[in-house]
Amino acid sequence: MGARSFARHAASAVEAVLASKRFDGDVMESEPLARHTTYRIGGPARYFVVANDLGSLTRLIEACKVDGTPWMVIGRGSNLLVADEGYDGAIITLGRDFRSLNFDEDIACFTVGAGTMLSAVVQEAFRLGYGGMEFAVGTPGTIGGALRMNAGSRDSWIGSRVRTVTLLSEQGELQRVSGEAVEWGYRTTSFAAADTLLECEISVEKGEPFSIHGKMEANLNRRKSSQPLGQPSCGSVFRNPEGDSAGALIERVGLKGHSIGGAQVSTKHANFIVNTGEGRAADVRALIELIQTKVNEAYGIELKPEVRFIGFE
Ligand SMILES: Cc1cc2nc3c(=O)[nH]c(=O)nc-3n(C[C@H](O)[C@H](O)[C@H](O)COP(=O)(O)OP(=O)(O)OC[C@H]3O[C@@H](n4cnc5c(N)ncnc54)[C@H](O)[C@@H]3O)c2cc1C
Repeated sequence: MGARSFARHAASAVEAVLASKRFDGDVMESEPLARHTTYRIGGPARYFVVANDLGSLTRLIEACKVDGTPWMVIGRGSNLLVADEGYDGAIITLGRDFRSLNFDEDIACFTVGAGTMLSAVVQEAFRLGYGGMEFAVGTPGTIGGALRMNAGSRDSWIGSRVRTVTLLSEQGELQRVSGEAVEWGYRTTSFAAADTLLECEISVEKGEPFSIHGKMEANLNRRKSSQPLGQPSCGSVFRNPEGDSAGALIERVGLKGHSIGGAQVSTKHANFIVNTGEGRAADVRALIELIQTKVNEAYGIELKPEVRFIGFE
């Protein structure tokens, strides 16, 4: 369904923006979010919008504020659990103008649009003979999602390579912030909830192609042998508690392989909950809560989800 399908006399500021000739993007109404998450789970969004340029993105967000329509910018949905009831608002993704990738050899730095896939940066760095991004090989999603989540492994994360981030603030201002001014935590960042991340600069170092390739291969092999990559998931569900492993704790309380409906604690990696086919968000959520209760009862540890919830109370 295209932007022009809205009624000539739009019922709301959002519909007026989406129907306007100036709007550059794609619009789907009542779009199942299961089509846009790696879990393949999630009910409909009132609007699912791909915004192709900054003007369209800005006008849409402003219109959401005018109408009081909830809105959220997502990437590839690889860290999301969306409620079965869906999201009664606008889910926005970043299209054409936000999918750029440029390299400045003089300062060994990529300038990357937030809608670009993280994997594109990893591959381009390797192709050009630069190291530093090997940790991210095999991590799905966009640069925007990686920045928001501070994506990484146990000992490397994207924030440590970010020189600057350009964002659209809640007040609708374009800001460029230094990477050093951002707090990059373990799958958390200090960006405001309503900040839309648009672009960033990522530093890399000249490296030895053989060694870069070796690190990438080793990381990929580790993933393949330890993660259920053939089944829909959101990656690790919980953050590892200080000095411990969420997966090991889940195994120790006997929940590895445990199912609720179509959600199962992976038999390969207990910190993954997989969708076995007909999984619903309610099943995943119930399994998450069961794990939290059992681990807390047994060890007094509160497991904190890494996955982001959308559309839940
Ligand atoms: C098989 C598998 C393996 C994984 N392995 C890893 C791993 O090794 N390390 C790791 O850290 N993660 C891992 N993940 C989780 C996930 O891939 C990362 O969190 C990823 O960075 C999310 O990117 P995304 O584009 O899919 O974001 P989404 O899941 O779409 O969104 C995640 C969050 O970011 C916000 N967001 C997205 N884009 C923007 C933007 N432009 N502006 C503002 N906010 C935005 C969303 O609102 C949401 O809160 C894995 C997931 C899977 C399925």
